[in-house]
Amino acid sequence: MDLFDPPPDSPEAAAEPTGRRSQADRLRVKALRIHEILCEAYGCPVPYFSDKGPLSELVSALLSHRTKNADSGRAYTQLRERFPTWEAVRDAPAEEVEEAIAPCTWPEQKAPRIQAVLRAITEAPEVDGLGLDELADWPADDARRWLQAFKGVGPKTSAAVLLFSRLRVPALPVDSHHHRVAQRLGLIPMSMAVGPSHDALAALVPGDWDAQRVYDHHEALMLHGQKCCYYRRPACSRCPVYDLCVWEGKGAPPPDAETS
Ligand code: SF4
Repeated sequence: MDLFDPPPDSPEAAAEPTGRRSQADRLRVKALRIHEILCEAYGCPVPYFSDKGPLSELVSALLSHRTKNADSGRAYTQLRERFPTWEAVRDAPAEEVEEAIAPCTWPEQKAPRIQAVLRAITEAPEVDGLGLDELADWPADDARRWLQAFKGVGPKTSAAVLLFSRLRVPALPVDSHHHRVAQRLGLIPMSMAVGPSHDALAALVPGDWDAQRVYDHHEALMLHGQKCCYYRRPACSRCPVYDLCVWEGKGAPPPDAETS
């Protein structure tokens, strides 16, 4: 048995003899084992941290780019306090928007970008004004492609808009913690960048999972990156998925780890 294989007496092993499994299938089985172990460790189901509308989630994500959570949160709050509606943000002088979002990084770039996105959404024939609630009725891939056509919106933001907002559409965002943990556990190659990792990691998640399970998957891997698998000096000696880690830089095992 290798690290990709499920335990011999598990339902997965009974259903799929090792010799016939493709590498993709083996990775899917491994991703599920990681999900189960990390969910147990970090407590799934994880409560949603937000019930913003999709447009609010989009603006919030645009503000958060390369910004500490506390600072982007402050910028978002100030923006909402200063302007009563998204139409008001769209039509305001750019300097006023820039002033309102000053706590985040590069407000001088983010203010015109946010306004440009709001204008483009207003003019888009596929949606009815500045709401985006109709995205809940679209196939998730179509909604993501549509969102990613706007400047500054990448795969992480499009997934976050669908999953984190009150739409609760199953779409998998990958942040830097999630990405690092997935690399070290061998779910994606070490050379794969965050952008392409979205499709690769989404392909490992069962297609019939609801939003809560997809959210749990993202949160569990992200929390592992935040609380144990640090960028520098990961705490391998207390890692619950030590046996599944293929990273050559990993440290000493937990005292009770099976190091087969
Ligand atoms: S063994 Fe260490 S490097 Fe590997 S996943 Fe666990 S904490 Fe991260």
